[in-house]
Amino acid sequence: MSNVTVRIPTPLRAFVSGQKDVPIIAPTAGEAIRALCELHPTLRRHLYGPDDTLRNFVSVFVNEDDIRNREREATPLRDGDIVSIVPAIAGGSGGSGSPPPPSPPSPPKEESLPPDELRRYSRHLLLPEVGLSGQRKLRRAKVLIVGTGGLGAPAALYLAAAGVGTIGLVDFDTVDASNLQRQLLYSTADVGRPKLAAARDRLTGLNPGVKLVLHEQRLDSTNALGIVRQYDVVLDGTDNFPTRYLVNDACVLTGVPNVYGSIYRFEGQASVFDARRGPCYRCLYSEPPPPDLVPSCAEAGVLGVLPGVVGVLQATEAIKLILGIGEPLIGRLLLYDALALRFRELKLRKNPECVLCSPHATQKELIDYPAFCGVPAPGAAVEPGVPEILPAELKAALATDDPPLLVDVREPEELAISHIEGALPIPEGEIPDHVDELTGARAIVLFCRSGSRSADATRMLLDLGFSNVRSLKGGINAWAHDVDPSIVVY
Ligand SMILES: [Zn+2]
Repeated sequence: MSNVTVRIPTPLRAFVSGQKDVPIIAPTAGEAIRALCELHPTLRRHLYGPDDTLRNFVSVFVNEDDIRNREREATPLRDGDIVSIVPAIAGGSGGSGSPPPPSPPSPPKEESLPPDELRRYSRHLLLPEVGLSGQRKLRRAKVLIVGTGGLGAPAALYLAAAGVGTIGLVDFDTVDASNLQRQLLYSTADVGRPKLAAARDRLTGLNPGVKLVLHEQRLDSTNALGIVRQYDVVLDGTDNFPTRYLVNDACVLTGVPNVYGSIYRFEGQASVFDARRGPCYRCLYSEPPPPDLVPSCAEAGVLGVLPGVVGVLQATEAIKLILGIGEPLIGRLLLYDALALRFRELKLRKNPECVLCSPHATQKELIDYPAFCGVPAPGAAVEPGVPEILPAELKAALATDDPPLLVDVREPEELAISHIEGALPIPEGEIPDHVDELTGARAIVLFCRSGSRSADATRMLLDLGFSNVRSLKGGINAWAHDVDPSIVVY
């Protein structure tokens, strides 16, 4: 038996009374995690699957080592060891919108550096590691940024400023006021404009010598290989698992390095996945977490400056890969904790059984990523099978003599942004503790921000035996849009 510390990642702290570190006495890594779940039973379903094995999207490290590279759950512990649970997090940009016209083609560039570029890049030219030849490499380089949100926005600014000759941008969203807290590529006047049009103006203003290629479309299995193949480096700034796996797989299949970054509240991750020289994203997480266990940035919030740090780390790695200098973040997972202001690093190894990048690889082409991640295909209904109510129907129901009980399943912080009068606030995670308050109601309508969490909560109540429960389709944002425009949409 050894006295160890189990380090709890932010998304799971709610299940261990908010603790960051939990002292545990156990002989092995597996026993330590089991002991932790005995102390905090609600944590269990987040870490173990129905078959009682550790879920694939949960990585466990003892000090710096992934237990899969040691003796897995039998990995012995010594006094003072740190056992880290590292869940997959998405984080980045995201959203929806409509495509505007593509940018005009730029004229071809020659290899020499004209005087204005010598001035512009003089601080690079002074570095022996960059110099004239490095600056020419940057000019010849083509970098694809997938997602121009929190991560992609700062990365695009720095890569354009650095003189990366061709920058491809994938996004189909429009600029929202809630983006401005962290996506410095856009200004207040850009709200409502397509992101790529705003990005083109800003980046061209910053460095007119950069050729911008605008891919105003959703990256999917039909177009990803064709797009990724045109680039030397891909920078993953996505905010959802289907696109993350798609980007990883397209990069492995085309042999393009993938500079990975993700964010969650106050924490970030970064790595470089280059299957020719190290592990890929699937080596780290062979399967995505179930959608209901992973809140998005839009639901969980994010410190605005955090994606700036992580996006700039990604831009740094992209530039190093282009220049061929320094030590790339290959085979290493960098963890950044903004609250503690601490960087940690974990070793990543290639999974000898990786379906994509190992010698035994079975996957040779792109797959159906929404299905793989268990999320509805873009445009499909959120939770088929869960009864929903439209905002207008709810308005009518509330006006009757026998109105439904309205339950707001959002987090307390969200109530300060918007609320519906008379709604009972019970955060989704606390519903099991408040079943008594709901049993008397003849009809219940649950709502959240956009309808996803309330659909999960509706299913939970139906499973508990409630019959007349519905989820407000589109959440309070749809209510604001359809019924009460005085409510803030966020
Ligand atoms: Zn792999």
